[in-house]
Amino acid sequence: MTVRTRFAPSPTGFLHIGGARTALFSWAYAKKHGGKFILRIEDTDVERSTPAAVQAILDGMAWLGLDYDEGPFYQMQRMDTYKKVLQSMLENGTAYHCYCSKEELEALRESQMQQGLKPRYDGRWRPEAGKALPQVPPDIQAVIRFKNPQTGSVVWDDLVKGRIEISNTELDDLIIARADGTPTYNFCVVVDDFEMGITQVIRGDDHVNNTPRQINMLMALGATIPQYAHLSMILGDDGQKLSKRHGAVSVMQYHADGYLPEAVLNYLARLGWSHGDAEIFNRQQFCAWFDLDHITPSAAQFNSEKLNWLNAHYIKEIDINLLASDITERLQANKIAPSAAPCLNNILALYRERANNLNQLAKDIAYFYVLPTASAEDVGKHITPEIIPAMQTLSEKLTSIDWTAEAIHREINAVVTQYALKFPKVAMPLRVMLTGTAQSPSIDQVMALLGQKETLTRIQSHLA
Ligand code: GLU
Repeated sequence: MTVRTRFAPSPTGFLHIGGARTALFSWAYAKKHGGKFILRIEDTDVERSTPAAVQAILDGMAWLGLDYDEGPFYQMQRMDTYKKVLQSMLENGTAYHCYCSKEELEALRESQMQQGLKPRYDGRWRPEAGKALPQVPPDIQAVIRFKNPQTGSVVWDDLVKGRIEISNTELDDLIIARADGTPTYNFCVVVDDFEMGITQVIRGDDHVNNTPRQINMLMALGATIPQYAHLSMILGDDGQKLSKRHGAVSVMQYHADGYLPEAVLNYLARLGWSHGDAEIFNRQQFCAWFDLDHITPSAAQFNSEKLNWLNAHYIKEIDINLLASDITERLQANKIAPSAAPCLNNILALYRERANNLNQLAKDIAYFYVLPTASAEDVGKHITPEIIPAMQTLSEKLTSIDWTAEAIHREINAVVTQYALKFPKVAMPLRVMLTGTAQSPSIDQVMALLGQKETLTRIQSHLA
Protein backbone atom coordinates (compact mmCIF):
# COMPACT_ATOMS: atom_id res chain seq x y z
CA MET A 1 0.00 0.00 0.00
CA THR A 2 1.36 3.42 -0.93
CA VAL A 3 2.06 5.60 2.05
CA ARG A 4 -0.03 8.76 2.10
CA THR A 5 0.52 11.29 4.86
CA ARG A 6 -0.87 14.74 5.34
CA PHE A 7 -0.27 17.97 7.15
CA ALA A 8 -3.57 19.57 8.09
CA PRO A 9 -3.02 22.96 9.68
CA SER A 10 -5.82 25.26 10.76
CA PRO A 11 -4.94 28.68 9.33
CA THR A 12 -5.57 30.60 12.50
CA GLY A 13 -2.01 31.81 13.00
CA PHE A 14 1.49 31.48 11.62
CA LEU A 15 3.31 28.20 11.09
CA HIS A 16 5.13 27.80 14.38
CA ILE A 17 7.86 25.39 15.42
CA GLY A 18 5.46 22.66 16.58
CA GLY A 19 3.43 22.78 13.37
CA ALA A 20 6.56 22.85 11.26
CA ARG A 21 7.89 19.76 13.01
CA THR A 22 4.60 17.93 12.42
CA ALA A 23 4.78 18.90 8.76
CA LEU A 24 8.42 17.80 8.57
CA PHE A 25 7.77 14.38 10.08
CA SER A 26 4.76 13.74 7.83
CA TRP A 27 6.72 14.90 4.80
CA ALA A 28 9.78 12.81 5.66
CA TYR A 29 7.71 9.70 6.32
CA ALA A 30 6.12 9.95 2.88
CA LYS A 31 9.50 10.59 1.22
CA LYS A 32 11.15 7.70 3.01
CA HIS A 33 8.48 5.29 1.82
CA GLY A 34 8.16 6.66 -1.69
CA GLY A 35 4.68 7.85 -0.78
CA LYS A 36 2.68 11.03 -1.15
CA PHE A 37 2.51 14.02 1.16
CA ILE A 38 -0.70 16.01 1.10
CA LEU A 39 -1.36 19.53 2.35
CA ARG A 40 -4.83 20.19 3.63
CA ILE A 41 -5.91 23.53 5.01
CA GLU A 42 -8.54 23.08 7.72
CA ASP A 43 -10.23 26.43 7.37
CA THR A 44 -13.74 25.62 8.55
CA ASP A 45 -13.38 27.84 11.60
CA VAL A 46 -14.32 30.87 9.51
CA GLU A 47 -14.13 33.25 12.44
CA ARG A 48 -10.49 32.48 13.15
CA SER A 49 -9.11 31.46 9.73
CA THR A 50 -7.46 34.15 7.64
CA PRO A 51 -5.90 34.28 4.16
CA ALA A 52 -2.81 35.82 5.78
CA ALA A 53 -2.42 32.74 7.98
CA VAL A 54 -2.81 30.45 4.93
CA GLN A 55 -0.07 32.44 3.21
CA ALA A 56 2.13 32.24 6.30
CA ILE A 57 1.79 28.46 6.30
CA LEU A 58 2.58 28.21 2.59
CA ASP A 59 5.57 30.55 2.99
CA GLY A 60 6.90 28.66 5.97
CA MET A 61 6.68 25.33 4.17
CA ALA A 62 8.30 26.74 1.05
CA TRP A 63 11.13 28.24 3.08
CA LEU A 64 11.78 24.89 4.75
CA GLY A 65 11.51 23.13 1.39
CA LEU A 66 8.60 20.95 2.46
CA ASP A 67 7.00 20.34 -0.89
CA TYR A 68 3.69 18.55 -1.13
CA ASP A 69 2.53 16.11 -3.78
CA GLU A 70 -1.15 16.95 -3.53
CA GLY A 71 -3.05 20.03 -2.44
CA PRO A 72 -3.34 22.44 -0.89
CA PHE A 73 -6.92 21.29 -0.38
CA TYR A 74 -9.18 23.71 1.41
CA GLN A 75 -11.95 22.24 3.53
CA MET A 76 -14.21 25.21 2.83
CA GLN A 77 -14.15 24.16 -0.82
CA ARG A 78 -15.19 20.62 0.04
CA MET A 79 -18.57 21.33 1.63
CA ASP A 80 -20.47 19.44 -1.06
CA THR A 81 -18.45 16.33 -0.31
CA TYR A 82 -19.15 16.54 3.43
CA LYS A 83 -22.83 17.09 2.79
CA LYS A 84 -22.99 14.03 0.56
CA VAL A 85 -21.36 11.90 3.22
CA LEU A 86 -23.74 13.29 5.86
CA GLN A 87 -26.68 12.39 3.65
CA SER A 88 -25.45 8.85 3.11
CA MET A 89 -24.87 8.39 6.85
CA LEU A 90 -28.40 9.55 7.58
CA GLU A 91 -29.63 7.07 5.01
CA ASN A 92 -27.67 4.11 6.30
CA GLY A 93 -28.45 4.89 9.93
CA THR A 94 -24.94 5.73 11.17
CA ALA A 95 -26.09 9.31 11.86
CA TYR A 96 -29.37 10.85 12.92
CA HIS A 97 -31.18 14.13 13.42
CA CYS A 98 -31.38 15.52 16.91
CA TYR A 99 -33.94 18.23 17.67
CA CYS A 100 -32.85 19.13 21.17
CA SER A 101 -33.05 22.82 21.88
CA LYS A 102 -30.22 24.69 23.56
CA GLU A 103 -32.34 25.00 26.70
CA GLU A 104 -33.03 21.27 26.80
CA LEU A 105 -29.35 20.46 26.49
CA GLU A 106 -28.47 22.99 29.14
CA ALA A 107 -31.05 21.50 31.52
CA LEU A 108 -29.67 18.01 30.84
CA ARG A 109 -26.17 19.22 31.54
CA GLU A 110 -27.14 20.82 34.80
CA SER A 111 -29.00 17.83 36.10
CA GLN A 112 -26.04 15.57 35.24
CA MET A 113 -23.65 17.91 37.01
CA GLN A 114 -25.87 17.98 40.06
CA GLN A 115 -25.79 14.20 40.19
CA GLY A 116 -22.04 14.30 39.92
CA LEU A 117 -22.10 12.79 36.43
CA LYS A 118 -19.98 13.74 33.45
CA PRO A 119 -22.13 15.89 31.13
CA ARG A 120 -22.97 13.98 27.99
CA TYR A 121 -25.74 13.73 25.46
CA ASP A 122 -28.27 11.15 26.65
CA GLY A 123 -29.27 9.85 23.24
CA ARG A 124 -32.87 10.97 23.41
CA TRP A 125 -33.08 11.34 19.61
CA ARG A 126 -30.96 8.29 18.90
CA PRO A 127 -33.05 5.87 16.91
CA GLU A 128 -33.12 2.28 18.15
CA ALA A 129 -35.20 -0.66 17.13
CA GLY A 130 -38.52 -0.51 18.96
CA LYS A 131 -37.78 2.90 20.52
CA ALA A 132 -40.32 5.68 20.14
CA LEU A 133 -38.68 8.99 19.40
CA PRO A 134 -40.09 12.28 20.67
CA GLN A 135 -42.41 14.37 18.52
CA VAL A 136 -40.42 16.52 16.07
CA PRO A 137 -40.77 20.11 17.30
CA PRO A 138 -41.86 22.50 14.55
CA ASP A 139 -39.51 25.35 15.43
CA ILE A 140 -36.17 23.58 15.82
CA GLN A 141 -33.57 23.03 13.12
CA ALA A 142 -32.01 19.66 13.73
CA VAL A 143 -28.33 19.01 14.19
CA ILE A 144 -26.90 15.71 12.93
CA ARG A 145 -25.27 13.37 15.40
CA PHE A 146 -23.02 10.41 14.81
CA LYS A 147 -24.39 7.17 16.18
CA ASN A 148 -21.40 6.14 18.22
CA PRO A 149 -21.22 2.47 19.23
CA GLN A 150 -22.37 2.06 22.84
CA THR A 151 -20.44 -1.05 23.70
CA GLY A 152 -16.90 -2.26 23.29
CA SER A 153 -13.94 0.03 23.02
CA VAL A 154 -11.76 1.78 20.52
CA VAL A 155 -8.19 0.57 20.45
CA TRP A 156 -5.25 1.77 18.44
CA ASP A 157 -1.53 1.18 18.59
CA ASP A 158 -0.25 4.67 18.56
CA LEU A 159 3.11 4.70 16.82
CA VAL A 160 4.47 7.08 19.43
CA LYS A 161 2.40 6.53 22.54
CA GLY A 162 1.78 2.82 22.31
CA ARG A 163 -1.54 1.08 22.73
CA ILE A 164 -4.46 3.29 23.68
CA GLU A 165 -7.89 1.94 24.52
CA ILE A 166 -10.99 4.03 25.16
CA SER A 167 -14.29 2.53 26.14
CA ASN A 168 -17.22 3.53 23.96
CA THR A 169 -19.18 4.27 27.10
CA GLU A 170 -16.91 7.32 27.43
CA LEU A 171 -18.05 8.71 24.10
CA ASP A 172 -21.44 10.22 23.43
CA ASP A 173 -23.03 10.89 20.05
CA LEU A 174 -21.00 13.69 18.54
CA ILE A 175 -22.64 16.49 16.57
CA ILE A 176 -21.27 16.18 13.05
CA ALA A 177 -23.40 18.90 11.42
CA ARG A 178 -24.71 22.06 13.04
CA ALA A 179 -28.29 23.26 12.75
CA ASP A 180 -27.31 25.42 9.77
CA GLY A 181 -26.03 22.31 8.01
CA THR A 182 -22.32 23.05 8.29
CA PRO A 183 -20.21 20.02 9.16
CA THR A 184 -18.12 20.09 12.32
CA TYR A 185 -14.39 19.81 12.75
CA ASN A 186 -13.92 16.12 13.62
CA PHE A 187 -16.27 15.06 10.87
CA CYS A 188 -14.39 16.98 8.16
CA VAL A 189 -11.10 15.49 9.32
CA VAL A 190 -12.59 12.01 9.10
CA VAL A 191 -14.11 12.46 5.66
CA ASP A 192 -10.86 13.92 4.36
CA ASP A 193 -8.57 11.33 5.89
CA PHE A 194 -10.81 8.69 4.35
CA GLU A 195 -11.24 10.24 0.90
CA MET A 196 -7.60 11.26 0.67
CA GLY A 197 -6.57 7.71 1.51
CA ILE A 198 -4.37 8.75 4.42
CA THR A 199 -2.37 5.80 5.73
CA GLN A 200 -0.52 7.50 8.62
CA VAL A 201 -1.91 10.38 10.59
CA ILE A 202 1.03 12.18 12.17
CA ARG A 203 -0.07 15.08 14.34
CA GLY A 204 0.27 16.78 17.68
CA ASP A 205 -0.87 14.94 20.77
CA ASP A 206 -3.47 17.61 21.45
CA HIS A 207 -5.55 15.49 19.08
CA VAL A 208 -5.34 12.22 21.01
CA ASN A 209 -8.79 12.87 22.49
CA ASN A 210 -10.31 13.22 19.04
CA THR A 211 -8.88 9.97 17.80
CA PRO A 212 -11.37 7.43 19.26
CA ARG A 213 -14.29 9.41 17.86
CA GLN A 214 -12.58 9.72 14.52
CA ILE A 215 -11.82 6.01 14.39
CA ASN A 216 -15.46 5.18 15.13
CA MET A 217 -16.61 7.44 12.33
CA LEU A 218 -14.03 6.02 9.94
CA MET A 219 -15.29 2.56 10.75
CA ALA A 220 -18.86 3.67 10.11
CA LEU A 221 -17.73 4.89 6.70
CA GLY A 222 -16.13 1.53 5.99
CA ALA A 223 -12.65 3.07 5.83
CA THR A 224 -9.38 1.30 6.50
CA ILE A 225 -8.19 2.85 9.74
CA PRO A 226 -4.93 4.75 9.30
CA GLN A 227 -2.07 4.37 11.73
CA TYR A 228 -1.75 7.22 14.22
CA ALA A 229 1.38 8.86 15.53
CA HIS A 230 0.76 11.57 18.10
CA LEU A 231 3.79 13.76 18.64
CA SER A 232 4.47 15.09 22.09
CA MET A 233 4.59 18.76 22.67
CA ILE A 234 7.68 20.92 22.54
CA LEU A 235 8.77 22.77 25.64
CA GLY A 236 10.84 25.93 25.77
CA ASP A 237 14.50 26.21 26.78
CA ASP A 238 13.29 26.63 30.33
CA GLY A 239 11.18 23.47 30.34
CA GLN A 240 7.99 25.52 30.30
CA LYS A 241 5.35 25.69 27.62
CA LEU A 242 6.76 27.26 24.45
CA SER A 243 6.68 31.00 24.76
CA LYS A 244 7.12 33.69 22.14
CA ARG A 245 10.77 33.87 23.08
CA HIS A 246 11.28 30.16 22.61
CA GLY A 247 9.91 28.98 19.35
CA ALA A 248 6.24 29.89 19.63
CA VAL A 249 6.94 32.21 16.75
CA SER A 250 6.51 31.81 13.04
CA VAL A 251 9.19 29.72 11.35
CA MET A 252 9.66 32.73 9.08
CA GLN A 253 10.82 34.63 12.14
CA TYR A 254 13.89 32.37 12.08
CA HIS A 255 14.60 33.61 8.59
CA ALA A 256 14.31 37.19 9.81
CA ASP A 257 16.47 36.34 12.80
CA GLY A 258 19.37 35.09 10.69
CA TYR A 259 18.90 31.34 10.45
CA LEU A 260 19.31 29.13 7.42
CA PRO A 261 16.39 26.85 6.60
CA GLU A 262 18.81 23.90 6.55
CA ALA A 263 19.69 24.60 10.18
CA VAL A 264 16.08 24.96 11.27
CA LEU A 265 15.12 21.79 9.41
CA ASN A 266 17.95 19.79 10.98
CA TYR A 267 17.06 21.27 14.33
CA LEU A 268 13.39 20.37 14.03
CA ALA A 269 14.25 16.85 12.95
CA ARG A 270 16.03 16.24 16.25
CA LEU A 271 13.17 17.61 18.33
CA GLY A 272 11.86 14.35 19.65
CA TRP A 273 13.44 12.04 17.09
CA SER A 274 16.90 10.55 16.98
CA HIS A 275 19.11 8.42 14.82
CA GLY A 276 21.78 7.05 17.12
CA ASP A 277 24.15 9.86 18.00
CA ALA A 278 23.74 11.70 14.71
CA GLU A 279 23.18 15.40 15.19
CA ILE A 280 23.94 16.72 11.76
CA PHE A 281 22.21 15.40 8.72
CA ASN A 282 20.95 16.96 5.56
CA ARG A 283 17.52 16.65 4.04
CA GLN A 284 18.34 13.50 2.06
CA GLN A 285 19.85 11.72 5.03
CA PHE A 286 16.93 12.66 7.19
CA CYS A 287 14.45 11.26 4.66
CA ALA A 288 16.46 8.07 4.41
CA TRP A 289 16.71 7.62 8.18
CA PHE A 290 13.41 8.91 9.43
CA ASP A 291 11.08 6.44 11.06
CA LEU A 292 8.32 6.60 13.61
CA ASP A 293 10.00 4.07 15.91
CA HIS A 294 12.55 6.54 17.20
CA ILE A 295 10.22 9.30 18.26
CA THR A 296 10.32 9.93 21.99
CA PRO A 297 6.96 9.85 23.72
CA SER A 298 8.17 12.43 26.22
CA ALA A 299 8.11 16.15 25.51
CA ALA A 300 10.97 17.56 23.47
CA GLN A 301 12.81 20.58 24.76
CA PHE A 302 13.79 23.56 22.72
CA ASN A 303 17.47 24.41 22.86
CA SER A 304 18.50 27.72 21.31
CA GLU A 305 22.21 26.98 21.68
CA LYS A 306 21.93 23.87 19.61
CA LEU A 307 20.07 25.76 16.92
CA ASN A 308 22.89 28.31 16.83
CA TRP A 309 25.44 25.55 16.63
CA LEU A 310 23.64 23.98 13.69
CA ASN A 311 23.32 27.36 12.05
CA ALA A 312 27.09 27.83 12.35
CA HIS A 313 27.58 24.44 10.72
CA TYR A 314 25.32 25.18 7.77
CA ILE A 315 26.72 28.68 7.27
CA LYS A 316 30.09 26.96 6.72
CA GLU A 317 28.63 24.31 4.44
CA ILE A 318 26.17 26.13 2.23
CA ASP A 319 27.03 26.91 -1.39
CA ILE A 320 28.93 30.19 -1.29
CA ASN A 321 26.79 31.78 -4.00
CA LEU A 322 23.63 31.07 -2.03
CA LEU A 323 25.23 32.50 1.06
CA ALA A 324 26.27 35.59 -0.89
CA SER A 325 22.77 36.19 -2.18
CA ASP A 326 21.30 35.81 1.30
CA ILE A 327 23.86 38.20 2.79
CA THR A 328 23.33 40.67 -0.06
CA GLU A 329 19.65 40.85 0.88
CA ARG A 330 20.51 41.41 4.51
CA LEU A 331 23.03 44.13 3.62
CA GLN A 332 20.49 45.80 1.38
CA ALA A 333 17.94 45.70 4.18
CA ASN A 334 20.49 47.79 6.10
CA LYS A 335 20.81 50.10 3.09
CA ILE A 336 24.23 48.78 2.17
CA ALA A 337 24.90 47.82 -1.43
CA PRO A 338 27.79 45.42 -1.82
CA SER A 339 29.98 46.56 -4.74
CA ALA A 340 31.92 44.28 -7.07
CA ALA A 341 35.11 44.92 -5.11
CA PRO A 342 35.89 43.67 -2.60
CA CYS A 343 34.29 40.46 -3.79
CA LEU A 344 31.55 39.37 -1.39
CA ASN A 345 32.20 35.68 -2.02
CA ASN A 346 35.82 36.07 -0.90
CA ILE A 347 34.84 38.04 2.16
CA LEU A 348 32.32 35.38 3.11
CA ALA A 349 34.80 32.57 2.54
CA LEU A 350 36.88 34.18 5.29
CA TYR A 351 34.09 35.21 7.62
CA ARG A 352 31.73 32.28 7.49
CA GLU A 353 34.16 30.16 9.46
CA ARG A 354 33.35 32.13 12.57
CA ALA A 355 29.68 33.01 12.08
CA ASN A 356 26.62 31.44 13.63
CA ASN A 357 24.05 33.94 12.49
CA LEU A 358 23.38 35.52 9.12
CA ASN A 359 22.35 38.91 10.48
CA GLN A 360 25.48 39.06 12.58
CA LEU A 361 27.55 37.99 9.58
CA ALA A 362 26.04 40.75 7.45
CA LYS A 363 26.76 43.23 10.22
CA ASP A 364 30.32 41.99 10.70
CA ILE A 365 31.29 42.42 7.07
CA ALA A 366 29.46 45.71 6.41
CA TYR A 367 32.70 47.68 6.92
CA PHE A 368 34.00 46.37 3.61
CA TYR A 369 31.33 48.46 1.87
CA VAL A 370 30.81 51.40 4.21
CA LEU A 371 33.35 53.34 6.22
CA PRO A 372 33.22 52.09 9.80
CA THR A 373 33.27 54.31 12.84
CA ALA A 374 35.25 52.91 15.70
CA SER A 375 34.17 53.56 19.26
CA ALA A 376 36.11 56.21 21.14
CA GLU A 377 36.98 53.50 23.63
CA ASP A 378 38.61 51.25 21.02
CA VAL A 379 40.41 54.17 19.44
CA GLY A 380 41.71 55.37 22.82
CA LYS A 381 42.77 51.91 23.84
CA HIS A 382 44.50 50.77 20.67
CA ILE A 383 45.52 53.78 18.58
CA THR A 384 47.88 55.21 21.19
CA PRO A 385 50.39 58.02 20.50
CA GLU A 386 53.28 55.54 20.93
CA ILE A 387 52.04 53.36 18.13
CA ILE A 388 51.69 56.16 15.56
CA PRO A 389 55.31 56.08 14.32
CA ALA A 390 55.12 52.32 13.73
CA MET A 391 51.86 52.77 11.84
CA GLN A 392 53.43 55.53 9.75
CA THR A 393 56.29 53.26 8.79
CA LEU A 394 53.95 50.40 8.01
CA SER A 395 51.72 52.59 5.91
CA GLU A 396 54.70 53.75 3.84
CA LYS A 397 55.94 50.20 3.33
CA LEU A 398 52.50 49.03 2.29
CA THR A 399 52.39 51.44 -0.63
CA SER A 400 54.97 49.50 -2.60
CA ILE A 401 54.24 45.81 -2.14
CA ASP A 402 52.34 43.14 -4.01
CA TRP A 403 48.91 43.19 -2.39
CA THR A 404 48.73 39.67 -0.99
CA ALA A 405 48.06 38.51 2.57
CA GLU A 406 51.54 36.98 2.72
CA ALA A 407 53.33 40.15 1.63
CA ILE A 408 51.21 42.24 4.04
CA HIS A 409 52.02 39.82 6.83
CA ARG A 410 55.75 40.16 6.12
CA GLU A 411 55.54 43.95 6.34
CA ILE A 412 53.65 43.87 9.62
CA ASN A 413 56.25 41.49 11.03
CA ALA A 414 59.06 43.74 9.85
CA VAL A 415 57.54 46.73 11.64
CA VAL A 416 56.92 44.64 14.75
CA THR A 417 60.63 43.73 14.81
CA GLN A 418 61.82 47.21 13.95
CA TYR A 419 59.92 48.80 16.83
CA ALA A 420 60.41 45.84 19.22
CA LEU A 421 56.66 45.42 19.67
CA LYS A 422 54.38 42.45 20.18
CA PHE A 423 52.31 41.53 17.12
CA PRO A 424 48.93 42.54 18.65
CA LYS A 425 50.26 46.02 19.36
CA VAL A 426 50.21 46.57 15.61
CA ALA A 427 47.37 44.27 14.65
CA MET A 428 44.83 45.77 17.05
CA PRO A 429 45.13 49.39 15.91
CA LEU A 430 44.97 48.14 12.34
CA ARG A 431 41.72 46.35 13.13
CA VAL A 432 40.23 49.43 14.72
CA MET A 433 41.30 51.64 11.82
CA LEU A 434 40.17 49.29 9.10
CA THR A 435 37.16 47.44 10.49
CA GLY A 436 35.93 49.78 13.19
CA THR A 437 36.17 47.04 15.81
CA ALA A 438 38.87 45.24 17.72
CA GLN A 439 37.68 41.87 16.44
CA SER A 440 38.25 40.50 12.99
CA PRO A 441 39.73 37.47 11.31
CA SER A 442 43.44 37.54 10.57
CA ILE A 443 44.22 41.19 9.81
CA ASP A 444 46.49 40.52 6.83
CA GLN A 445 43.67 38.63 5.14
CA VAL A 446 41.24 41.41 5.92
CA MET A 447 43.64 43.93 4.39
CA ALA A 448 44.18 41.78 1.32
CA LEU A 449 40.42 41.72 0.77
CA LEU A 450 39.84 45.37 1.53
CA GLY A 451 42.34 46.36 -1.17
CA GLN A 452 45.48 48.46 -1.09
CA LYS A 453 43.93 51.83 -1.80
CA GLU A 454 41.13 51.55 0.71
CA THR A 455 43.44 50.13 3.37
CA LEU A 456 45.88 52.99 3.02
CA THR A 457 43.14 55.59 2.98
CA ARG A 458 41.65 54.26 6.19
CA ILE A 459 45.02 54.05 7.95
CA GLN A 460 45.95 57.54 6.82
CA SER A 461 42.70 59.02 8.07
CA HIS A 462 43.73 57.95 11.58
CA LEU A 463 47.29 59.24 11.27
CA ALA A 464 46.49 62.67 9.93
N1 GLU B 1 -6.21 21.19 11.99
C1 GLU B 1 -5.60 20.60 13.14
C2 GLU B 1 -4.63 21.56 13.78
O1 GLU B 1 -4.17 22.48 13.14
C3 GLU B 1 -4.88 19.30 12.83
C4 GLU B 1 -5.82 18.19 12.60
C5 GLU B 1 -5.17 16.86 12.33
O2 GLU B 1 -3.94 16.83 12.05
O3 GLU B 1 -5.89 15.89 12.37
O4 GLU B 1 -4.33 21.39 14.94
